[in-house]
Order: sequence, then structure tokens, then C-alpha cells
Amino acid sequence: MTVTLPTTQELRDRARTALDRVGVTLPDGDGVRARTPITGEDLFPLRASTSADAEAAIAAAAEAFGTWRTTPAPVRGELVRVFGELLREHKSDLADLVTIEAGKIRSEALGEVQEMIDICDFAVGQSRQLYGRTIASERPGHRLAETWHPLGVVGVISAFNFPAAVWSWNTAIALVCGDTVVWKPSELTPLISLAASHLLDRAIAATGAPNDVHRLLLADRAVGEQLVDDPRVALISATGSTRMGREVGPRVAGRFGRCLLELGGNNAAIVAPSADLDLALQGIVFAAAGTAGQRCTTLRRLIVHRDVAGKLLDSLVTAYRRLPIGDPFDDTTLVGPLISANAAKRMREAIAQAQAEGGEVLAGGGLLDTGAGAYAEPAIVRMPGQTAIVREETFAPILYVLTYDTFDEAIALHNDVPQGLSSAVFTRDQQEAERFLAADGSDCGIANVNIGTSGAEIGGAFGGEKETGGGRESGSDAWRAYMRRATNTVNYSSTLTLAQNVSFL
Ligand code: NAD
Repeated sequence: MTVTLPTTQELRDRARTALDRVGVTLPDGDGVRARTPITGEDLFPLRASTSADAEAAIAAAAEAFGTWRTTPAPVRGELVRVFGELLREHKSDLADLVTIEAGKIRSEALGEVQEMIDICDFAVGQSRQLYGRTIASERPGHRLAETWHPLGVVGVISAFNFPAAVWSWNTAIALVCGDTVVWKPSELTPLISLAASHLLDRAIAATGAPNDVHRLLLADRAVGEQLVDDPRVALISATGSTRMGREVGPRVAGRFGRCLLELGGNNAAIVAPSADLDLALQGIVFAAAGTAGQRCTTLRRLIVHRDVAGKLLDSLVTAYRRLPIGDPFDDTTLVGPLISANAAKRMREAIAQAQAEGGEVLAGGGLLDTGAGAYAEPAIVRMPGQTAIVREETFAPILYVLTYDTFDEAIALHNDVPQGLSSAVFTRDQQEAERFLAADGSDCGIANVNIGTSGAEIGGAFGGEKETGGGRESGSDAWRAYMRRATNTVNYSSTLTLAQNVSFL
């Protein structure tokens, strides 16, 4: 397959145009390199934030919290509303930067920005719905209630593969909850971080919110660790690998801070004999090969009933052979580059290990010879069982295929991995669908029927169990993680009644 790619200079110019339109001035200096996986080359050197910058950002955000927490929540919502309008206006610019830095195809990059817009809409509504409950008191003349208050400074640490959406899930909700935010994005995606943060700064200026309700730090993990260890940061919301979460979680717990962890997944789909195989095929290909396998919700394991395995695999292999791989700006491309040559190396090593464990490569697995960038052919590997490599998350497009005979066996295989993010069953058997969603079914935070594992909507809470970290973000009642709860008892009688009829004095 021959692949025509834009030059690094063309990508640099395109990034510059998008940044100019947003109004970003690049911080001159060094320490951080903006680069593109499309050609694998550097775009701009940028000044890295120092430890002193991080200290100043945390102090400023802590001070701004003093004002922001008493600003009425619907007024805080107005900031997020204006920010959402700016995101709409600059949707195409932001999507360009996502494609240039993360390598996402155009429709997925636009989809990422749409998620940012959607969470703003959601958060504006949420700003009028930070509900507490009134609870029936056992004492006459008493009111028992709970109130939700802003928490403090939220440290957001984010990953390269959703370089802007994950930050906005956290930030839009945190801001309406009355918190202030310090963001340490992935060191691989500084340009989209500068652009998104600048649009928020513009919204802050337009609405008169305190300047320091949001601060950006462009830096590597050392600055992330500074956020993690600082007691002024009330909540660390960290998205990334399980390795990162294993380091961050205990450190935040050690200072009794709060942690919201969104870590790696090893997502599976069960395909039952009654499944609509055409529908399953579409769901599987998008979930497994989309974003070049670089979503936390990417489908990595296919657990297919022995009776339909042959038919499904034939059509999957055919679909994989036709996948257009290449320039993510080309409208016909479906699979863009891996983030780095290292990611390609890890993919090759994983496939070699799978073969050593008895796996058979049915499709893909090679690297395209583009002379630039790491363009991998999404792979399908049939495995004799759930071996060691199948139980790991390799952040690349490898789909391991396992077969099953009974539904109990399928669920056991499904749950027998350390991660617990997203899951799906393709079936037309209602008993199987309900069993998959039941307490003894999928053990993941996301469990779907007749739709793939990736592509979540903003309205639902997003996150997973086990080594995925247990956090929930974005929709439903995820806002509660960004607030503290106070239980209030008010005595409006003229006698003091002790609870549980205790008498004293
Ligand atoms: P990564 O773990 O390498 O880095 C993520 C972020 O953590 C970066 O900003 C990095 O600088 C920072 N970091 C790393 N070690 C740190 C430490 N010890 N202290 C503080 N900060 C630290 O992840 P990545 O390669 O950017 O992203 C891919 C991973 O993220 C995959 O495992 C993927 O499944 C996961 N992910 C999960 C979700 C989710 O919602 N569950 C979403 C997106 C990505």
C-alpha cells in the first residue's frame, strides 16, 4: 500500500494557522517539543513549565477558589456556556490540532471537539442541579439535609489519546461545581492544550470570572508529580496508563487527598450465535481498528461462539484488508498513525509474544513503509486461550480472538482480566443480553448490548473497575466527585432532643 503524507512543513503551517485563529502565542523556549505522529517529526520547541511555575499555578488557583466557591453556581455555568460557544466557533481549528498531534482521522478529531461542546452543554444544565437531599429526621422539629459544597483545586492530568476532551469533561464540571483547575496535559499534545486553555481564558475574560480559575502547565510527569503531592490540590483526576495510576493513587491517598483515576482497559465483546453478524461486524471494526487502536475503550478481545466464529472471522478479515490506512487528513482514511515508533515497536513485540503463546495472525500486523510516521496494519490474532499477552493492554490495534461454547464460559473469559472498562455483547437472545448486564455478568463500568465498546456519550458516567481505577467522569452524577458533602441538622423546636433517645443532663 502506498501512502501519501503531508510534509512536516505543511503540518507546521496548518497548526500555525489554527493557533493564530484561536489567538494563541506559542511560549518560546525549550523543554517541550510539539511533534506530529503523521510524519513523526518535531513541529515547534516550546518553553516547559518549571517547578516554580507549578507552585505559582497551584497558589493562584487556591486563591481564586476563595472567590469562585461563593460565586453562584448558575453564574459559574455562564462561564462554561461562553466557553462552549468558543469551542463551537473554533471546532475545526481544534480538530486540526487534534489530528496533527494525536493523529486522529478528521471525523474522530471533530468528534472529540464535539464531546467538549456536549460536556459544556451538560455542565451548564448541571450548574442549576447541584442537588442535595432532605432526609426524614427521627426528631420532631428538626430538619436533616445534605448540602454540596465546592471542593478546592482540581489537578487534571491527561493522556495523549483524548488530548482535549478528557480535560474538558473534568474542567467543565469542576468549574460549575465551584472548583478551580490546574491542568497538566500529556507532553505529547501541547498545541491542542494551549489552544483549548486559551479559549477558556477568553471565556474567563469575557465573563469576568477570576483569572486563575484555570491554569495550564506544559511539562512532563515531574510537574504532574508535584500536583499529586501538593496538599492544596484537593482532587487529582488522572487519566492514563495503569502504570501511572499505580504510582499516583497511593501518593494521593498518602496525604488523604481525593483521586479520580481513569486508566487502561482491555475491552471485550462477546458474539453469540443469535447475533446479527452484519451489525456485529460494523461494531467490531470501528471499536477495534478505529483511532488505530488507541482508545481506552478500544476492542481488544473478541469472544465468539464456536458456531459463528468461521463466518464472522471471514468477514472481519475481508473488512480489515480493505481498511484505508494513511494520512488522517485524507477523508478516505480510516486508520491514521500510531503515536510513536515506540508504540509500533510495542505492537510488534505483542504480536510476537502472541505467536509464541500459540496465536495465529489472521490479518494485518505489519508496518507500512511510509518513510515517516508509524502506520500499522490493524491485526487480528486468533488465540488458543486467554494467555498472558491477551490479559495486557497493548495500546495499538490488535484484536485477539477467542472462542467459546457456553455463555457462562464466555462471561468467565470476559471477566478474567485485570482491567474493567468497557464491554459488549452482540446477541438477539434477551436472556443472554440481560445476563450480561446483571450482577454476575460483565464486571466493567460500561456494558453494552448490540453496540461496540467505544464511542461513549456525554450523558452517562464514564469509567471502569479493577485496574481501570474506579473513577467516573462526565455524565450522570459524576459531578459529586468534584464536591464535598455536608450533612446538616437544624433544630427549629425549642427543645434539645438527642438522637437515639439518649438522655444526658
Ligand atoms: P501515560 O500514563 O503515559 O500518561 C498519562 C499522563 O500521566 C501524562 O500526562 C503523563 O505525563 C502523566 N504521568 C505519567 N506518570 C506520572 C506520574 N508518576 N505522576 C504524575 N503524572 C504522571 O498514558 P498515555 O500513553 O498518555 O495514554 C494512554 C493510556 O491512557 C492507555 O493506557 C489508555 O487506556 C489510558 N486512557 C484511559 C482513559 C480512561 O478514561 N480510562 C482515557 C484515555 C486514555
